[in-house]
Amino acid sequence: MHEMSICESIVSVIEQQAVAQSFSRVKRVRLEIGPLAGVELEALRFSYDVVTKGGIAEGSALEVIEMPVTAWCMPCAKPVTVRERYDPCPDCGSYQVQITGGDELRIRDMEVD
Ligand SMILES: [Zn+2]
Repeated sequence: MHEMSICESIVSVIEQQAVAQSFSRVKRVRLEIGPLAGVELEALRFSYDVVTKGGIAEGSALEVIEMPVTAWCMPCAKPVTVRERYDPCPDCGSYQVQITGGDELRIRDMEVD
């Protein structure tokens, strides 16, 4: 499962941070995920519980912040927010829209002890 390897890399980042900042317990992790990252949130939560078992993040809450899909509309010549790839511009209805963001997958912050 794709989500399992994502969680493994999240946990390895957490463990590196734990050494660098000397904390021993993680209470909450906040992730920023864009709709274009191709992550199944339910699978991600399930994988997170499995992968964190026995480590410093065991039992921690996984909070997901869903990021918008951002794009550049050429006719409007400004950034806009669309719901998904291939959506028209919400302002002018044009399909000349270039996706600029929405595939984020990163740790925003975490609450530690
Ligand atoms: Zn537009």
